[in-house]
Amino acid sequence: MMVLRPKVVSQFKLHPDAMKILEEVAKVVVVPGFSHEDLMAEMSDADALIGAARVDEAFLNRTPRLKIVASFGVGYQDRVDVEACTRRGIFVTYTPNVLSGTVAELTIGLIICLARAIPLADAYVRRRWWRPRAKPLSLGVDIEGKTLGILGLGRIGYEVAKRAKAFGMGILYYDIVRNQKAEEEGLASYVPFDELLRASDFLTIHVPLIPETRKMIGERELRLMKKTAYLINMARGGVIDEEALCKALAEGWIAGAGLDVFAKEPLPKDSPLIKMKNVVLTPHIGSATVEARRRMALMNATDVVRVLRGEEPINIVPEQRGRLPLKAS
Ligand code: NAP
Repeated sequence: MMVLRPKVVSQFKLHPDAMKILEEVAKVVVVPGFSHEDLMAEMSDADALIGAARVDEAFLNRTPRLKIVASFGVGYQDRVDVEACTRRGIFVTYTPNVLSGTVAELTIGLIICLARAIPLADAYVRRRWWRPRAKPLSLGVDIEGKTLGILGLGRIGYEVAKRAKAFGMGILYYDIVRNQKAEEEGLASYVPFDELLRASDFLTIHVPLIPETRKMIGERELRLMKKTAYLINMARGGVIDEEALCKALAEGWIAGAGLDVFAKEPLPKDSPLIKMKNVVLTPHIGSATVEARRRMALMNATDVVRVLRGEEPINIVPEQRGRLPLKAS
């Protein structure tokens, strides 16, 4: 009798080391791209999902065999309805700690890009420098001695603070819970939210997107910031009121922004942000390095295999810990 292998659907091309682990126990189907229908066509008989799709009641109604949603990243809060999964006995896992340094590196990259206008300088060399009357570029600013404000001093925020300190920046933070470790180490000082907005030369966002943080940075907050300040968003687009941000950038309430995430992704081609010279844009690539993606894939693969074997996954999301009985496979 032929034994049917469990089916794992992944929205990401996974590192070969992770594929090896998965293929020992399951059939793996990779559905890259953003097409919801392409994904759903494979999900009706899937036992596991590795990815970043919106998983809600409507999704779960179409996935009767699903046992685990393995989020390829840490920002599952705005995408996965954990309560709906829990009610159906479906595990939700994520990949904490293995990408924090990687996201922090890009954060520092965007800070330096903004301070020295690297994308404009690159375009200048390619298009204008060689012209006899080329107007010189405007001067940049140092980051040494400047104040970095961190909104959300969790795993990623902490790694950003460590790196920024090495550049000689002073570091302030706001979080709903004080980070004792960072304070004891002299890494960052806590200030109330409005004080963080007023004092920062660079303000970088690292909170999850949850109802309390949706549009946490809006017109009021942007008007409190310095006119010379730069805003960096590595968290989720929804944390900023993007319309207010466009107004702030166009009217000079702040100096510029570095954005890896957007209210709508992919960023629509008619977004005003695309034509603005005082912004640096990256396509949600915070964790997109060979090393981080391998670590994330291995973490997801290990959890998926455990669940397919009837064991509890290791990296279960905090909301589910201790709440979920194992579902018979
Ligand atoms: P984390 O360790 O949970 O850190 C988030 C911090 O924000 C925590 O200290 C949290 O406090 C705090 N926080 C929650 N609600 C807040 C509020 N209302 N006001 C102020 N602070 C608040 O998460 P992480 O691993 O650093 O990741 C942060 C976010 O980055 C993720 O949720 C994800 O959306 C985003 N991300 C983006 C990329 C990318 O590619 N751009 C990659 C990875 C992650 P509590 O712990 O007390 O809740």
